[in-house]
Amino acid sequence: MIKQLYRLVPALLLSACSVLPVAAAGQSIPLFDAHVHYSSDAWKKYSVDEVLAILDQAGVERALVSSTPDDGTLKLFEAAPERVVPELRPYRTGADMGTWHSDPSILPYLEERLRRGIYRGIGEFHLSADKAATPVVRRVIELAVERQIPLHAHSDEKAVAALFAVDRRVKILWAHAGMSTPVQAVGEMLDRYSNLWVELSYRLDEVAPGGRVSPAWRTLFQRHPDRFLFGSDTWTPGRWPQVPALANAARAWLKELPPDLAAAIAFRNAERLYGTSKP
Ligand SMILES: [Zn+2]
Repeated sequence: MIKQLYRLVPALLLSACSVLPVAAAGQSIPLFDAHVHYSSDAWKKYSVDEVLAILDQAGVERALVSSTPDDGTLKLFEAAPERVVPELRPYRTGADMGTWHSDPSILPYLEERLRRGIYRGIGEFHLSADKAATPVVRRVIELAVERQIPLHAHSDEKAVAALFAVDRRVKILWAHAGMSTPVQAVGEMLDRYSNLWVELSYRLDEVAPGGRVSPAWRTLFQRHPDRFLFGSDTWTPGRWPQVPALANAARAWLKELPPDLAAAIAFRNAERLYGTSKP
């Protein structure tokens, strides 16, 4: 019996240690950040070790990362494959942002990179409704459906509807909940499309004005508890130092929700959508 205990103690200590750094920082809710970029302007300013330290400080245990160019994602993924979920943007450089949807040369680029088998999503991309059914975008949708990986769209509700009109089977993570889409319309989209998930970066002022969850958003979270994801969005280098504060702001309003719902939005919904283990 005593021998068994001795054998147990190191295991218990080890498991306690693995949760201590997060608990010690008072960050009881681990986060899966579903909107991270490590683009060239950021990697020139912050090393891989520095951004991983920021994620540590923020209690972000896993992160959906896409970058312009894609090399930024690969640098982070190489250093932390268990933490980084790579996502492939249709942007070779920033110049592709406004033209990718109509540029056939994007397709061989995406197909070649996707063959590496590490990417769990395509995006984040910017797309308006009038460009959502071009031959290039149709092929991108096809690639996502074939691989059963979600698109990550920075789009309004019309563009999201247009993407689903091409193929209802595609999964879409909706960046910023449409950015300016009212809560009622977000709810209508979720009711209509069972393959739609909503990521909440840049919506803090509406979701939790003054730090308290708005009743309308709370009702929507309860109606669709498995479809919301936390995101910070490090689209510019200046966002990186803000990630710990953004994470804590999210925790503050998440704590107002029932623990199960909070854990789903903080982590579990993203884990369900992007997978749980090492690639
Ligand atoms: Zn973004």
